[in-house]
Amino acid sequence: MGTVQARGLRKAFGDVQALDGVDLDVPDGSFFVVLGPSGAGKTTTLRAIAGLEQLDEGSVHLDGRDATADTPAARDLAMVFQSYALYPRRTAYENIASPLRARKASADEISTAVAEVSSLLHIERLLQRRPAQMSGGEQQRVALARALVRRPRAFLMDEPLTNLDLKLRVEMRTELTRIHRSLGGTFVYVTNDQVEALSMADQVAVLREGRVQQVGTPTDVYERPANQWVAGFVGSPRISLLACRAEGDRLVGEQGWSLPRPRWTTAEDGRPLLLGLRAEDVSVETRGTAALPGEVYGLEPLGDRTVVDVKVGSEMLKVKARPTVAGVPGERVEVAVDLDRAHIFDADTGLALS
Ligand code: ATP
Repeated sequence: MGTVQARGLRKAFGDVQALDGVDLDVPDGSFFVVLGPSGAGKTTTLRAIAGLEQLDEGSVHLDGRDATADTPAARDLAMVFQSYALYPRRTAYENIASPLRARKASADEISTAVAEVSSLLHIERLLQRRPAQMSGGEQQRVALARALVRRPRAFLMDEPLTNLDLKLRVEMRTELTRIHRSLGGTFVYVTNDQVEALSMADQVAVLREGRVQQVGTPTDVYERPANQWVAGFVGSPRISLLACRAEGDRLVGEQGWSLPRPRWTTAEDGRPLLLGLRAEDVSVETRGTAALPGEVYGLEPLGDRTVVDVKVGSEMLKVKARPTVAGVPGERVEVAVDLDRAHIFDADTGLALS
């Protein structure tokens, strides 16, 4: 078993409310990602679960039992931090073995466990090296191996890939999901990188200013963002938001455009709204029944695609296009809109309207 529940976590540092009522339900065996920008309260949440942070209010339950008063050691959780924090004078083998030594495991048990985890992380050849003789990525793997060498109730990981270069980070994402599958434990993983979150998580909790904005699968969070802020934080290029109102069977933009009102929206007439359009749901290359008039502002070639910035009145719309797309600044274009994939938010509350 390895369920983790947080209930109403509150924590202030001076006048900063780092956690403002955080609830989380991490299912046994899941890869659960806490995603949010810098300062959202991710590390504080993880430290509270680990018992390293004194809470002002709230409780932490492990395997259904209230563990709020337990010491960090009694919680039986393994934590991996951003910094590798390896012992500099010990070899990789000794570093990995250290949690088992602390638990008085026998030499045989230790050598079997270190061999297993080293093979899982492909670091067998590094075992006799000291941290200074390894690259950052290798040290990171050794730090992971040290966390994974025992079978705690759950693994808590605080941005463990941040110090790696992009190529290695992408590789390690795949590795970590593979390791998670083969170990079968519960992972609680903190990151501010939405691509990392969407590519690895079974479930994502999106955190902002100490409050959970939404919990769901990566698809839920991307396709059905609960509010305008989540829609803007998840997805690249960023979702475009155009100010408008519903009028009868039309959506009328503040910049003078008008589109058929999507069947599914519950917005009442006249209420200020934001039409959210992801770059892949609009096109300057195809024609559709619903279209917005605009003019090309600039082109951003990204190799496998080009993002076209289109000005609609004074608002900007990002449009994904083929790398060969033509267009010069100032050119008039019609942007075809897939309204079935559009998002509508209440402009005052920011909440999604469905
Ligand atoms: P990052 O992605 O930058 O690591 P985070 O989401 O993990 O950010 P936290 O480290 O949990 O955010 O911090 C949440 C808020 O609490 C921030 O405003 C931070 O400055 C503040 N904070 C965290 N720890 C302390 C502390 N020990 N003393 C004072 N303020 C703190």
